[in-house]
Amino acid sequence: MPAGPHDRVGPRYHLPLSGERDFSRRELLAALGWFSRRRLITVAGIRFELLRRGAPERHYLLIHGDEETARQVLLARMQRHRPGIAFLVTHQQRLVRWGALRFDPNRILSGAGAERNLRALNPQLPEADLKLAMEWLERERGRLIRTLLPKRGRLLVALHNNQPGYSVHHEIPISDETALNDPQHSHDFYLATHPEDFRRLVRSPFNAVLQVRKPVDDDGSLSRLAARVGARYVNIEALLGSLAKQTRMLEWLADDLGWRDPQDEAVPAS
Ligand SMILES: [Zn+2]
Repeated sequence: MPAGPHDRVGPRYHLPLSGERDFSRRELLAALGWFSRRRLITVAGIRFELLRRGAPERHYLLIHGDEETARQVLLARMQRHRPGIAFLVTHQQRLVRWGALRFDPNRILSGAGAERNLRALNPQLPEADLKLAMEWLERERGRLIRTLLPKRGRLLVALHNNQPGYSVHHEIPISDETALNDPQHSHDFYLATHPEDFRRLVRSPFNAVLQVRKPVDDDGSLSRLAARVGARYVNIEALLGSLAKQTRMLEWLADDLGWRDPQDEAVPAS
């Protein structure tokens, strides 16, 4: 029986939707573009998809799976071939399920935060199992932090969505500095953990807060961790569904002002 197009093996592929045209492997990968760079990793029971373009100097993060607007904003940026590495949680819910455990992936970045979160979300869990879960998270935490934080001095940008009931006004009392540049839209704001980043964000048309020195409750979130270890971290908070707004906030930070990292500026232009 003569081989039909679907029987082809080896380096050539037939794509049924592309008419009669055959694609070589190289053409296929080129057609898939950035998809060819997809990677999946699981750390602390949290599964991330990694999208990378160019040097991974700047990290971008979606850590809550149900924050769909933030996911779309970040995906669109990476599809436009902007440089950096993006970590997108593949879960569709806010909480991660690991066996019988449930936890918020943005509340396990300290021992105290993890214990509080595990107790709150798994009230039926026997004390001995809770202890085992804590030990497991303790072991995983270092790898999670090393994965998400970029090289020292580089910026980590996290995208979150909120809903009515939470806004910048909840953060102001625990912030060191505040810039209400867009008071009509209190759901949309930057949260920075480094004074230098905050000083740039103050020049944006958007709200911004700085949280670095003021003693606040350690809730096990990434912003608390970043403030504690002196990492550069900016969270872009926007109301769920505010796609255009969150896109503008990300672009302002990442592109519009030609935002460069301090090391870049230390290098004299040739
Ligand atoms: Zn979130």
